[in-house]
Amino acid sequence: MATAESLRTALVGDNSVRAFDVERVRADFPVLRQSVHGKPLVYLDSGASAQKPTAVLEAMDEVYRSCYANVHRGAYYFSQHLTDRYEGVRAKVARFLNAASDQEIVFTRNVTEAINLVAHSFGDKLAAGDEVIISEMEHHANIVPWQLLRDRRGITLKVVPVAEDGSFRLDAYESMLGPKTRLVALTHVSNVLGTVTPMKEIIRLAHKAGVPVLVDGAQAVVHGKVDVRDLDADFYAFTGHKLYGPTAIGVLYGKAELLKAMPPFLGGGDMIRTVSFAETTYADPPHRFEAGTPPIVEAIGLGAAIDYVNAIGQDAIAAHEAGLLAHATERLSQVKGLTIIGTAKEKAAIISFVLDGIHPHDIGTIVDREGVAIRVGHHCAQPLMERFGVPATARASMGLYNTPGEIDVLAKALEKVKDIFG
Ligand code: PLP
Repeated sequence: MATAESLRTALVGDNSVRAFDVERVRADFPVLRQSVHGKPLVYLDSGASAQKPTAVLEAMDEVYRSCYANVHRGAYYFSQHLTDRYEGVRAKVARFLNAASDQEIVFTRNVTEAINLVAHSFGDKLAAGDEVIISEMEHHANIVPWQLLRDRRGITLKVVPVAEDGSFRLDAYESMLGPKTRLVALTHVSNVLGTVTPMKEIIRLAHKAGVPVLVDGAQAVVHGKVDVRDLDADFYAFTGHKLYGPTAIGVLYGKAELLKAMPPFLGGGDMIRTVSFAETTYADPPHRFEAGTPPIVEAIGLGAAIDYVNAIGQDAIAAHEAGLLAHATERLSQVKGLTIIGTAKEKAAIISFVLDGIHPHDIGTIVDREGVAIRVGHHCAQPLMERFGVPATARASMGLYNTPGEIDVLAKALEKVKDIFG
């Protein structure tokens, strides 16, 4: 994340920051050697899902080839070995987020499931009139679960508006916090605008009002260091596939005392202590929230992805991406008729834009012919599209393997789009 703080740390010589060699990084991602329509692939859709380094592919392959078994159940070697490794990833995720304990880390399928878990297990105790605060820049994953809760419990949803430059309206948020607020659920980084929300202050204000905060960190953990204890987040959710890991693995961090007080989300094997037809008792967190066979190999893949990111250094990644964002902002601004949507001061390496008179789907199709993969559409944020009065945008989202040269390829491809449609 290109916060001033992370940039300072990255650029002003913290000893932990290693030299960042983007060509060496690119060599770790086999898919980046591909051509598309006869052109070298330029992958600018990491915000939707990131590509995977060899280390992740090999870690998962190694498990299937050499020691695969179900976890938590077997008395035999493979099962115990893999259980240790699976639980080891939980501890690794706890360190990654600086959680106080690995018992605060729940594995889910993705961030969507993590948010739904909280909406059910925490949310179902809410009553008619209780309020949950979200914002205009939320992904549908952090809107729809609360609407479903509204249908179940009659809660009220309060929506913090977004400023014209795409920044979070802290003043409006503060005025919404009140005696009926029961939960604040907000994104840490907007997947459309790139805006980094002032999460520490958001949480401080919520706690002053006695309200817990759930953070959608899907776009945040990939761009810089997240410390849940420094933030004092009550819940923090992210998804593995955007962090250079596999699909079908997500994480919900929850403070121990909150998780302990929450009933199960899904029922089945692995989440129980005892079962009889008369009564079932439940395991302690985190296993209480992990019904059924978990995403075992995916968790191993996530562990490898975290190792990979740590080895490069999150501060070094943040500095590299800040450079990319600055270059992309300057280069795309030179394209006549192009408007960037989302120009907040604190931004991650995500740029949404529109081109005068040209539908984003046409932009996406033409730049694809140049080998450039960008996302076009509403980005699962339809209310935000409405806020900015556009049906859709084109979005370039950058990752640790992108180069300034690739941004130039995108800019040239956009000139081609204009030639064709202009
Ligand atoms: N939240 C944000 C901010 C996102 O960007 C996304 C995915 O784009 C999600 C939630 C949903 O992620 P997943 O589909 O992995 O649950």
